[in-house]
Amino acid sequence: MKNYTLKVLEVRKETIDTVTLCFKQPGLKKIKYLAGQYLTLQFRINGRRYIRPYSFSSTPSVDSTLNVTVKRVSGGIVSNYINDTIRVDDVIEVQQPLGDFIFDENQLMKSVVFWGVGSGITPLFSIIKELLTNQSLINVYLIYGNKLNSSVIFKSQLEELKKTYSKRFKVWNFYSREEFFEENTHNHRGRIHSDFIEKLMRDVENPSKHFICGPKDLKNTVKETLLNLGFLEDNILSEEFELVKNPEDFIGVETQKITLKFESKVIDLDVLKGKSVLEAALDVDVELPYSCQIGNCNTCKAVLKSGEMKMIGLNKLRKDLNENEYLLCCSYPLTKNVSVEI
Ligand SMILES: Cc1cc2nc3c(=O)[nH]c(=O)nc-3n(C[C@H](O)[C@H](O)[C@H](O)COP(=O)(O)OP(=O)(O)OC[C@H]3O[C@@H](n4cnc5c(N)ncnc54)[C@H](O)[C@@H]3O)c2cc1C
Repeated sequence: MKNYTLKVLEVRKETIDTVTLCFKQPGLKKIKYLAGQYLTLQFRINGRRYIRPYSFSSTPSVDSTLNVTVKRVSGGIVSNYINDTIRVDDVIEVQQPLGDFIFDENQLMKSVVFWGVGSGITPLFSIIKELLTNQSLINVYLIYGNKLNSSVIFKSQLEELKKTYSKRFKVWNFYSREEFFEENTHNHRGRIHSDFIEKLMRDVENPSKHFICGPKDLKNTVKETLLNLGFLEDNILSEEFELVKNPEDFIGVETQKITLKFESKVIDLDVLKGKSVLEAALDVDVELPYSCQIGNCNTCKAVLKSGEMKMIGLNKLRKDLNENEYLLCCSYPLTKNVSVEI
């Protein structure tokens, strides 16, 4: 895994609880990335290392800086640290860009539809700019849900894009808690729902590609409705920011003592019920490599040497993993004699 140190050129306040960090590209070897990918930031806060992925809100062919946009999560360590303390000229260690939430330009699409809620706009914004700038034959639609009008991230930039690409770019807003706004065809009260999706899809030019980014209920609503309407699963991509654990998956998972081999050391680790092996290791300051923490990347991939483990909450099916390969961010020991090596 390649690491870089980047300097903050600008800190932009987007909303009351969201900032964009604009990083200077390294002088010699520019960091290459694709619209929709994410950058993993590393911090040391009160002596402990924290690693968090943030989708690019910048677009390689449009923006000269590398931008990530971070919304505060209530009680969250890194998102609040970034919003409260990061200033211009700070330097931050990052990992090489990763992620497959990207537009494949070899697929011939007539329209691309973006479905987002809250901070889920970040990768969508990156891909939208890419398509509007470089794919003049594709129509671009954004359906964006927020609690309030004041929580809309990139509001003025989206307005500008609507003006510049008025024929090809259309936006629909949903407000779940806003009281005062004019309800009309493009501004709706409540959450993005299946009736709206069905209606909108009657006018969308096909073939179409769909990008969903937001909480699990958004993904479920949009994906289920699209599949019911006959859209192909391969044309529906989604990105989640948070691992959602279903309590039923934890039946049979108990606190276990396991053996972890890392950097030639053998460590006895107590994995409390409900904690992943990665979380248990980080809790005792064993600095394992990791990045996305939702089973998307391979950074925390380990080999199970003995015993049984179970992966829970994987964001997507991972056919690329061998039988004894596990992603520790999503791994929970099932038996006493678990031994893993990373
Ligand atoms: C691929 C990927 C891309 C991401 N891109 C962005 C981005 O562009 N902008 C952005 O703001 N965030 C993004 N995130 C989320 C980000 O990585 C962090 O998870 C988030 O900032 C919370 O970190 P924290 O340290 O503040 O919270 P933590 O201290 O890790 O968690 C505190 C509590 O908040 C809950 N929590 C964690 N993450 C979220 C969340 N996203 N929403 C609600 N509750 C949460 C946890 O379950 C926990 O209870 C992305 C995540 C992934 C996996």
